[in-house]
Amino acid sequence: MANRAIEIGANTFQYFTRNPRGGVAKEISKEDIDSFLKLSIQNNFSKIIAHAPYTLNLCSAKESIRNFSKNILADDISRVESVPNSLYNLHPGSHTGQGAEVGISQIAKALNEVIKPNQTTTVLLETMAGKGSEIGGTFEELKQIIDRVDLPDKIGVCFDTCHVFDAGYDIVNNLEGILEQFDKIIGIEMIKAVHLNDSKNICGSKKDRHEKIGLGNIGIDAISSIVNHPYLKNLPFILETPHEDLQGYAEEIKLIKSKTK
Ligand code: FE
Ligand code: FE
Ligand code: ZN
Repeated sequence: MANRAIEIGANTFQYFTRNPRGGVAKEISKEDIDSFLKLSIQNNFSKIIAHAPYTLNLCSAKESIRNFSKNILADDISRVESVPNSLYNLHPGSHTGQGAEVGISQIAKALNEVIKPNQTTTVLLETMAGKGSEIGGTFEELKQIIDRVDLPDKIGVCFDTCHVFDAGYDIVNNLEGILEQFDKIIGIEMIKAVHLNDSKNICGSKKDRHEKIGLGNIGIDAISSIVNHPYLKNLPFILETPHEDLQGYAEEIKLIKSKTK
């Protein structure tokens, strides 16, 4: 994967720890890790990001799903540890009718059972669009989870531009104000990565449909402000835009690089 990232002009990437819809994970080979670490140093990579499968839900109303999710999370973190100082991105969960308060406490409880003091991996809670019963569509909800985590230095936030916009934070007309709000509520230093996506929908739509950079309602000007913002510019930026092939991403990376100051 590192080779393909280099080919398209990237110096980071995101990968799924297993099939995004769930399932068995591939065995990790020491050779793969060693050759990755070598490549990443040679090519000046930033941190890479592992993404949890979408099927995980730490706050499902069904106990069996909560337990399954917690076990996958524990297994994923132990695998991700094979690359030191990794970032592991997680959708906080959907409370499926139990209410946000119950959901938040179930998520925090599961994280506390799984996160270990000696791990080098940072678990990132992704900012969500707030569709359905999703937790994490507001900065306050993320803060409430973080506040209950016993090992706060093992936790961070992944700032998804499409999700934040769809959740109702107007990063197009008020990026400064939104980041200030984030800083007041959570602390800007908690953002450890950015998912850089445009949105097919309008601010506050709570929809979560990603668009190619520059073709959605966020637009290239706001995207440029985001990648150049002093609070964000040194973070790993991950594209989750809907391209059919790598060439699409190569062109998108070129476009974004042409906008960075
Ligand atoms: Fe995600
Ligand atoms: Fe995302
Ligand atoms: Zn999304």
